[in-house]
Amino acid sequence: MPTAYELMSDQELAQEITRLEAEAERLRSLGLKLDMARGKPSPEQTALSHPMLDVLNSSTEMDDQGVAVDNYGAPDGLPSARALAAQILGVDPKNVIVNGSSSLNLMHDLVCNAFTHGIGGNKPWSQQGKVKFLCPSPGYDRHFKVTAHYGIENIPVPMLEDGPDMAMVKRLVENDPAVKGIWCVPKYANPTGVTYSDDVVRKFAALTPAAPDFRIFWDNAYVVHTFEGEGDHLLNIFDALAEAGKSDMVYEFGSTAKVTFPSSGIAFVTASSADMAEIRAAFSVMRVSPEKVSQLAHVRFLKDLDGIKVHMEKHAQIVRPRFELVQEKLHAGLDGLDCATWSNPHGGYFVSFDGPKGSAKAIVGLAADLGVKLTPAGATWPYGRDPEDTNIRIAPTYPSLEDLGAALDVFVVAVKLVSARLAKA
Ligand code: PLP
Repeated sequence: MPTAYELMSDQELAQEITRLEAEAERLRSLGLKLDMARGKPSPEQTALSHPMLDVLNSSTEMDDQGVAVDNYGAPDGLPSARALAAQILGVDPKNVIVNGSSSLNLMHDLVCNAFTHGIGGNKPWSQQGKVKFLCPSPGYDRHFKVTAHYGIENIPVPMLEDGPDMAMVKRLVENDPAVKGIWCVPKYANPTGVTYSDDVVRKFAALTPAAPDFRIFWDNAYVVHTFEGEGDHLLNIFDALAEAGKSDMVYEFGSTAKVTFPSSGIAFVTASSADMAEIRAAFSVMRVSPEKVSQLAHVRFLKDLDGIKVHMEKHAQIVRPRFELVQEKLHAGLDGLDCATWSNPHGGYFVSFDGPKGSAKAIVGLAADLGVKLTPAGATWPYGRDPEDTNIRIAPTYPSLEDLGAALDVFVVAVKLVSARLAKA
């Protein structure tokens, strides 16, 4: 569909560009310094968890169901923390390890372990020639960086309305033994906000990979990060695997990074019993035992899944108005111009925005020029290469509502001016 700018006469378009350039100059003169790049909670949100700092003190008994909290031991994590993580992911606590403060770190360690030591008795990936990973795109840049870091070839797979393009996933996974894994964010995906449909989850569970050492990296980072009520429904991948008579195919991850404190939360991983035995063996070389004081604080503070839901509702009250403002400003500024589409997620941390072909780098550049920092264009694609140069990730949680509104006003002008200039070209 042509943009409104493409439908204008040469004279109308020239006038509109002049008008938008004047508007851009006015914004530049304000000397703004705003940031819509960072997918992190605002200070108001992290303040919600400050009371967690008071739940432990020198009188607290350092015991969790017979496990010493203040010493080495319990390599799988505290029993109560494993139970909490199991509730969050809807799995059996015996298959959960709670370890460290970053789920990305756990993902990295498992890619590294597969690369150097292999999975399920197969040769290490590093000894199998070219190996590949599927990357639903737009997706999370740090996932793509992990596999790229090991020289694994990242292959983009289109993200559709209900999850990755499963016809393509099936074709690649079932026919190419070099395909060893796929990055998935199944709920409120980064950045599209898509929650995978039951059909997509079942199609994942029904895969018959050509490679016996293929694993789905199911990063359920936003499982409890809902804006309103119960939020989107996501079918439990392990239930779908059981239904399909499959096992040993999924590593699932989560963390409380955006529940309590980014980089100071608790992180966890679950998989089949056989996979967990392998993961335990690998972790036992990498670390003695996890940081259990933080685990105890988390359990005392959050208590259980109901406690987490109450806490996440407090987050929702802070983030919901920001996401509403994004929709309001984008609709007010861009409706009727047919130059952009964007997501309207029910949870998570991002809005995914697509402008005209060949516009994203220019929009991000112009916005920066006018004082608004955005995630670099291309970051949502493997190797930073967005083939159509359309996608921009908007991260509305960190700025105040006032700053966010001002940043979105700049963004809208940048989108319009770049789209108008493209129509002229
Ligand atoms: N996974 C996804 C999809 C994310 O968006 C993020 C952070 O933005 C992370 C993982 C990082 O989680 P952690 O802090 O637990 O490593």
